[in-house]
Amino acid sequence: MIIDISSVLTGEKLSQDVDYKIEKEDAAVLSENLFGAAVTSPVTVSGNIKNNGGCVTLTAAASFDYEGECARCLDPVKGSFSLELTRTVAAAGTLTGDEEDYIIAEEGKIDIDGEICEELLLSFPSKLLCDEDCPGLCPKCGKPKKEGKCGCPEKEIDPRLKILAQLLEK
Ligand SMILES: [Zn+2]
Ligand SMILES: [Zn+2]
Repeated sequence: MIIDISSVLTGEKLSQDVDYKIEKEDAAVLSENLFGAAVTSPVTVSGNIKNNGGCVTLTAAASFDYEGECARCLDPVKGSFSLELTRTVAAAGTLTGDEEDYIIAEEGKIDIDGEICEELLLSFPSKLLCDEDCPGLCPKCGKPKKEGKCGCPEKEIDPRLKILAQLLEK
């Protein structure tokens, strides 16, 4: 969304709230790259832009709901992911150095949707887990270990050791 922050940039206002939603369609870059998880809500953006003696700073929390599956046991995983970001805002043409770390306001307006989606993407876990300690699936029968013992032997003897043992017996 394009936000007009000209009165904060000029210092006429010292702060301005930023509260809006990025609809799922506009956050496509996010949903297409979430390692198989799906975005199930709009991205909520909530924060403010402050002018502190000429230094303009954006602080915002962004969050969205997702659905995916546990990387270890394949159970469905649902959750909400959020992060906070802080950026310095500068009017176009006022910077002499590198513009990369800044949000540049063109004619007093900024569009931070791309910035927010990119940041969420970079921080989203590449592997979802139903639980930090999810024990995963039994490698023999495929039963989720958290559902209890499946009866498979806990430890398999390494087949190479078995051969060695047989050789030693002879
Ligand atoms: Zn799991
Ligand atoms: Zn098993």
